[in-house]
Amino acid sequence: MSNSKVNLVTGGAGFLGSHLVECLIKNNEEVICIDNLFTGDKRNIEKWKNNPKFEFIRHDITEPIFLEVGKIWHLACPASPVHYQHNPIKTAKTSFLGTYNMLGLAKRLKAKILFTSTSEVYGDPEVHPQPESYRGNVNTIGIRSCYDEGKRIAETLCFDYKRLHNLDVKVARIFNTYGPRMVPNDGRVISNFICQALSNKELTIYGKGDQTRSFCYVNDLIEGLIKLMNSDLSGPVNLGNPEELRIIDVANIIQKKVPNSAKISFKELPQDDPLQRKPIIKLAEEKLNWRPKTTLSEGLDKTIEYFQQLIN
Ligand code: NAD
Ligand code: UDP
Repeated sequence: MSNSKVNLVTGGAGFLGSHLVECLIKNNEEVICIDNLFTGDKRNIEKWKNNPKFEFIRHDITEPIFLEVGKIWHLACPASPVHYQHNPIKTAKTSFLGTYNMLGLAKRLKAKILFTSTSEVYGDPEVHPQPESYRGNVNTIGIRSCYDEGKRIAETLCFDYKRLHNLDVKVARIFNTYGPRMVPNDGRVISNFICQALSNKELTIYGKGDQTRSFCYVNDLIEGLIKLMNSDLSGPVNLGNPEELRIIDVANIIQKKVPNSAKISFKELPQDDPLQRKPIIKLAEEKLNWRPKTTLSEGLDKTIEYFQQLIN
């Protein structure tokens, strides 16, 4: 039987997962975190070790698990290209089998389940900015496909469980999110540039740096996930900050913020790197009353401070 008071957070030792756990614990809720610690870190959840409302289970979601919970926040999946390309077959298994196992658990318990999809389902978008109705331009056989197609089939599974079993599913399409507890040097652009700037290494721009992304601060994003879980919306719903920037501009902003940063160097653009990305968030604004509040400048200051402490 479902224990409606308990939250299950998969990937809870990771970047977004640990921030979500933090919010749930602050709300005095019970949390079970499961994570195989592939890209997650026990230090991210260390502070709740002795909290009776928190429990950590080291488990790989490609295997089934039997627990009694009321809400499932399904985040487990490596998110940075370096990590998800490390073992692409495992990434695809995590997306498909992991989501299948979590949907099966939700079905047995009649629990609500929120799945963290991604803007990567839009691939290298030919429609700009991206509304939820855009069906995407994804390479099925490229180096990003294990992640992009993995998330697409996981979305498909979510909506088939909803149609067939009347499951209460929620799908968030998350756009690039940054903040404290990102893994340093995990290859993502904000963590890379900040760590490079702080250690006086050249900031590596892939390609000419005129590709764009839209960056959301982690606290804003977590607020969006919580609003989605507490709503009657299934989505998919875009969650991200619509402020769009060229990668070269991001490098320049970080250079200005970190004294004595080294220069910029240009490297080869990885295969299938999307040229542009910016969410339309009208659905989240109207149905969830959600919009990001943190400016890039404020968010970067907090992230730089975090990496400064970590590096020193
Ligand atoms: P992350 O790599 O920091 O966290 C993922 C967590 O999942 C890690 O703790 C990892 O150890 C765990 N994990 C991976 N495979 C697992 C498995 N098979 N079994 C159990 N645990 C496993 O990444 P994140 O940035 O926190 O991303 C969390 C979720 O949000 C992911 O599903 C990701 O696709 C999605 N997302 C993130 C972003 C972003 O910008 N951060 C953007 C879009 C979507
Ligand atoms: N990028 C870059 N230098 C880096 C890391 C990334 O120029 O050191 C670029 C990358 O090619 C992409 C953008 O920054 O165009 C965002 O990369 P990230 O891996 O953070 O996210 P994603 O490509 O998955 O949106």
